[in-house]
Amino acid sequence: MTRVEREKLGGHAGRVVWLTGLSGAGKSTIANALERELNRQGKRTYILDGDNIRQGLNRDLGFSDADRAENIRRVAQVARLFVDAGLIVVVAFISPFRAERQAARELFAPGDFLEVFVDVPLALAEERDPKGLYRKARTGELRQFTGIDSPYEPPLAAELVLPTAELTPQECVQRICGLL
Ligand code: ADP
Repeated sequence: MTRVEREKLGGHAGRVVWLTGLSGAGKSTIANALERELNRQGKRTYILDGDNIRQGLNRDLGFSDADRAENIRRVAQVARLFVDAGLIVVVAFISPFRAERQAARELFAPGDFLEVFVDVPLALAEERDPKGLYRKARTGELRQFTGIDSPYEPPLAAELVLPTAELTPQECVQRICGLL
């Protein structure tokens, strides 16, 4: 069976929507709302995030620069399999380094990889602190935390930028759907 045959059966193309941004930017919130909307449209989806990848396939990896790079390499390879299966795969990882996001992009045909920068000022992400991780990073309980003592390299040419300080999650979803 080929990808084209699988896509025909599913009634839509396989794609990867790659959400990148600081912790607390809104990646998981948007990924979940996007998946609901796409399923409402009859499209088959899957979310790859820290919960299902870092606790399983990548549980041998930590948060050093080298481990972060390997984490993203594996996520990109898994995403490629999902696209080949004809699904819209939504990747929700901080993925802080440009080089790794570029390497991920290069696994896909042009147009199949949609990089979405979930953009938020650090101060607002820290104020939201949905998982209490910034507080832990500030007290030194958590090391190598992106935005605090580990860098985040914003995309230079993302397919879409979503300023989540100004948009609702539903507006973000609508903008992503406009790309698909
Ligand atoms: P991340 O997955 O990037 O770490 P989360 O989705 O877990 O971030 O948390 C983002 C927080 O910001 C949530 O509490 C969410 O309700 C809030 N939020 C406010 N505006 C938006 C928006 N436009 N998009 C996504 N999340 C938003």
